[in-house]
Amino acid sequence: MTTLIVGGGPAGAAAAITLARGGHACRLIERTSGEHDVVCGGFLGWDALALLDRLGIDAASLGARPITRVRLIAGARRVEAALPHTAAGLSRRRLDAALLAAAEHNGVEVLRGTTVRSADPERRVVRLHDESELTCDALLLATGKHELRGVARPLADRRDSLAVGLRTALPPESARDAALADTIELHLFDQGYAGLLLQEDGTTNLCLSVSQRRLAEAGGPLPLLAELAGALPALAERLGRDLPAQVTAIAGVPYGWSADTTTAGLFRLGDQGAVIASLAGDGIAMALAGGIGGAEALLAEGPAGAQRWQGGFARRTGRQRALAEVFRHGVERPISRAALMALLRLAPRLIAPAALLTRTR
Ligand SMILES: Cc1cc2nc3c(=O)[nH]c(=O)nc-3n(C[C@H](O)[C@H](O)[C@H](O)COP(=O)(O)OP(=O)(O)OC[C@H]3O[C@@H](n4cnc5c(N)ncnc54)[C@H](O)[C@@H]3O)c2cc1C
Repeated sequence: MTTLIVGGGPAGAAAAITLARGGHACRLIERTSGEHDVVCGGFLGWDALALLDRLGIDAASLGARPITRVRLIAGARRVEAALPHTAAGLSRRRLDAALLAAAEHNGVEVLRGTTVRSADPERRVVRLHDESELTCDALLLATGKHELRGVARPLADRRDSLAVGLRTALPPESARDAALADTIELHLFDQGYAGLLLQEDGTTNLCLSVSQRRLAEAGGPLPLLAELAGALPALAERLGRDLPAQVTAIAGVPYGWSADTTTAGLFRLGDQGAVIASLAGDGIAMALAGGIGGAEALLAEGPAGAQRWQGGFARRTGRQRALAEVFRHGVERPISRAALMALLRLAPRLIAPAALLTRTR
């Protein structure tokens, strides 16, 4: 049986490691040619840490910074609480490199710097950037936030509700570093949020998620940051005197979406299978769980197992994604955000169970 994995993020790499450990040869195709940044908050929940451990990766030894607290800030209101378990901050640059190195170490053939142009799931063929074709019996689609021609997610009816992710890194700065030591900080605003955490290299990862409408109204990522810094003093304090000169963006993020069906032989993993609101900080765990689970289904049932597994994965993650959507919609609107912050100030202990309910099991 020939298996191709397209995409070497957490989902694709987790699938590759699981298949290789199960004695099944596979080939993974990743378009980037070396270590690279990803638009992501870099928050690893305790579920993600446990899944990484299962894959033989110790996040602490990669330099991940322990996170034990969460701070929510909305205008002048702020609330802080302990997380129920220790989480971590780790750059995707470091995480993805470690996952792909582990895949290679387990015997996976990893093709880097190779972009897949399109896929035909019926013929089980993928076409590469040089127009050459590869055939397979099972195709594991793990291109994450990026669509692949022939197997793109059907998102046309969601066009108005898609979000945009933005990311930049801020240099070490003593006051900011002290404020973020062991804490993830979320700044909530209309139609989006900004998250900050310290990474292993001493930089702060600044990640924003915002509606396409709000971004367009602001006139783009840098004007949006300037607008937010003007309106939100606590965020302005974290950004410091100089606003970032460059921000990376990814558009078309379909929070809450899942693939409930698929074609025989096509396993849709990670964000190509189910997307949880980034505010919950659990997309990486869901991608790892999907990668492992999809690979285990392939090992047990062969390519024919794709449809049963895909439907089951969508169902198992359904409640978690729905709760994250409720939370996201709640904090993106001014009235419900104010009510939620008032409630959490009275009872900050509610944050821990909410964090538990949006974890991958
Ligand atoms: C703004 C924002 C912040 C987030 N913050 C967090 C967070 O703090 N914690 C968390 O757990 N989750 C977070 N998430 C979610 C998380 O980033 C995703 O759920 C996770 O990255 C999904 O992993 P994946 O492997 O499916 O895809 P990805 O991480 O997107 O990886 C896909 C890989 O496929 C490769 N690829 C794409 N197309 C091709 C192609 N045609 N040919 C070959 N290779 C290809 C890419 O180069 C990439 O390496 C955030 C999401 C957003 C939008």
